[in-house]
Amino acid sequence: SKKEGLGRALAYTAEMDAATREKLELEKGLREALEREQFEVHYQPQLDMFGNLIGSEALVRWRHPERGYIPPGVFIPVAEENGLINPIGSWVLRTACRQNRAWQLEGRAPVPVSVNLSIKQFEQPNLVEIVQSALADSGLTPQYLELEITESMAMNAAATEGTLYLLKALGVKVSMDDFGTGYSSLSYLNRFPIDKLKIDQSFVRDLFKEESGASIVATIVAMAHHLKLSVIAEGVETREQLEFLREQKCDQVQGYYYSPPLKPEAFSRFWDELENG
Ligand code: C2E
Ligand code: CA
Ligand code: CA
Ligand code: CA
Repeated sequence: SKKEGLGRALAYTAEMDAATREKLELEKGLREALEREQFEVHYQPQLDMFGNLIGSEALVRWRHPERGYIPPGVFIPVAEENGLINPIGSWVLRTACRQNRAWQLEGRAPVPVSVNLSIKQFEQPNLVEIVQSALADSGLTPQYLELEITESMAMNAAATEGTLYLLKALGVKVSMDDFGTGYSSLSYLNRFPIDKLKIDQSFVRDLFKEESGASIVATIVAMAHHLKLSVIAEGVETREQLEFLREQKCDQVQGYYYSPPLKPEAFSRFWDELENG
């Protein structure tokens, strides 16, 4: 009826208002968050199939004074829209390089730290300098920094291709995040200087749930190896998933089965326990 229609429309408007208010609120908070040092970087362990630690992924968190932790899935899109992703992204990069170097200086086996890059960061004309200075200031050797890009960025080729080659020339590694979820024409796998594919967690989650789940994962692993890329599976939560990936000769895994993302101190403890049994 007309009345119901109006009710729905009002409810819809109220919902939109709430969403708009929330966004404005987040934006205001984000502007202050950097100065007030409200961001943290947590690190999720990455392991090889023998259970050795071979790297970590840096994941940003916002510790809001009133609301507690706000996950990146909530504030990154807002930061991408208003440009704050650039200073936030640079801070994450510098923090991750410094932390990884600190672990090396403690005498731990050097492993790469992986940092997520937003397409907006790629559009900065000085991204290469930003990466260079994060490395120089931390003293981290380029081979121990890995940059994660997504398929949609690769498809935006005009902007990213040249920059990617310059970054590779520095000696850093590049991995393709969320592989299989973008609009892939697989041609970019040849065109772009990529070292590693990260199998998106949705494929790992559906491994035994959907009929084609196992074939999809097996195919991605085989394809990566044919292209001489290494391959890591994200979102590994169970022993069954791990065993399947092992059979398929997947190189590395990351996921709650081993550990969620951890604060640096907790990451150090996790690392110690792995090594000392
Ligand atoms: P992502 O890069 O795909 O990161 C993996 C996400 O999966 C992380 O969520 C991680 O905590 C979560 N995860 C790890 N293991 C498991 C598991 O076994 N099961 C499940 N269900 N989830 C798992 P998080 O930290 O909330 O990050 C969400 C997304 O936010 C990231 O997805 C990434 O796209 C973005 N993000 C995080 N940090 C940064 C950053 O510093 N810069 C940029 N540009 N984006 C970031
Ligand atoms: Ca990632
Ligand atoms: Ca991912
Ligand atoms: Ca993702």
